[in-house]
Amino acid sequence: MAIVTPLRLFPLAALAAMGTIAAAMDARENAAPTAFVYDPVFLEHGTGPGFPESPERLRWLTAHLETLPLSERLLRMAPDEGVNPLPWIAALHDPDYIEALRAACRNGERLMGDSPDSPISPRSWDAAVRAVGAALTAVDAVMDRRARNAFAAVRPPGHHAMPDSAKGFCLFGNAAIAARYARVKHGIERVMIIDWDVHHGDGTQVMTYEDPTIFYFSTHQYPFYPGPSGAAKNTGTGQGEGFTLNVPLAEGSGDKAVLAAFRTELTDAFRKFRPGLVIISAGFDAHEADPLGGLGWTSGVYGELTRIVRELCREQGHEHIVSVLEGGYSKRGMTEGVAAHLEALMK
Ligand SMILES: [Zn+2]
Repeated sequence: MAIVTPLRLFPLAALAAMGTIAAAMDARENAAPTAFVYDPVFLEHGTGPGFPESPERLRWLTAHLETLPLSERLLRMAPDEGVNPLPWIAALHDPDYIEALRAACRNGERLMGDSPDSPISPRSWDAAVRAVGAALTAVDAVMDRRARNAFAAVRPPGHHAMPDSAKGFCLFGNAAIAARYARVKHGIERVMIIDWDVHHGDGTQVMTYEDPTIFYFSTHQYPFYPGPSGAAKNTGTGQGEGFTLNVPLAEGSGDKAVLAAFRTELTDAFRKFRPGLVIISAGFDAHEADPLGGLGWTSGVYGELTRIVRELCREQGHEHIVSVLEGGYSKRGMTEGVAAHLEALMK
């Protein structure tokens, strides 16, 4: 009996058609929508009256998006129930801290740890776990090509969270955990975290400092909260030496200084590192209307920064960008800034 190989069954015309299909798939990847990952439980992380990191921030954002034509083109996603964030959280956080946070929420405590800068409520545990879940879902959507790129609108934010403690409004290191997940789950060899929040992401830096496979780049107001971690001399340690790059910016330095940092320092580092995925720690508290930050950026700069990152990715032959919300405490920064960012992701 003759064995017919699959190839012999393929007429040349079919092979030519496969080429066309491949081209069509590429085109479809480019035409894939931008994912918007969100969960209403993020509104239930209560922080108390008058606290800047409030549920109101996401209400401003979601209400504003509904008024914009671009919202019709977003791929709305909830955190994937099929992905359990807990083992990924445990990869970067101490088990004692994870259990203490779970117990503190269950017991109705109002603060995590002894610092007043990390208030919690009974639903904060669910919100924090699902914030990580949203970041992981965004990574999956982009790497599985269901989305061209993704924005995860989460609370609580993550970049100050330490391996063993809550800090600076942050409970779990959403961006660092997502970077680790992308490395392990999707086999991406090099991931770059680009953090444009007005504050230095000291927690992200701690979690990636010795890791040469995750590059941490941050622009931030300096000197400022959280202190000396964001100094330019801090560049990584051990195997991770040279894989952290801090660009401190002076108070009031405006759009010009950050654009210069992205066009020189970031561009050089990016081309050397050649990441297969970028995770943006997208804070909007460097905005001129922000009550905490003092860098004075306009709304439009968030579009400019996004375009620079997209262009750098395209040089590497991909558009793999997962953006995760960090800070942003003014209504104008959260609505105009995020809209400019999303518009540039979608163009
Ligand atoms: Zn911030």
